[in-house]
Amino acid sequence: MRENKACQCPAVIRGVKKPTDCEIFGTVCTPRNPIGSCMVSDEGACAAYYRYRRYAEAG
Ligand code: SF4
Repeated sequence: MRENKACQCPAVIRGVKKPTDCEIFGTVCTPRNPIGSCMVSDEGACAAYYRYRRYAEAG
């Protein structure tokens, strides 16, 4: 997988940024179309955040 330069994964993992700080979070980058490694597994920070947000908005 090629890392997109917009991907904030390293900063997200370090807790410096939130997934929502990423420009393409939930738009270009989704669990179905992961751009960075954080969106790949269920345990990935962005994937978890995406799911949480979807549930929160649906709630
Ligand atoms: S995995 Fe996706 S949403 Fe998360 S920082 Fe990388 S590009 Fe952004």
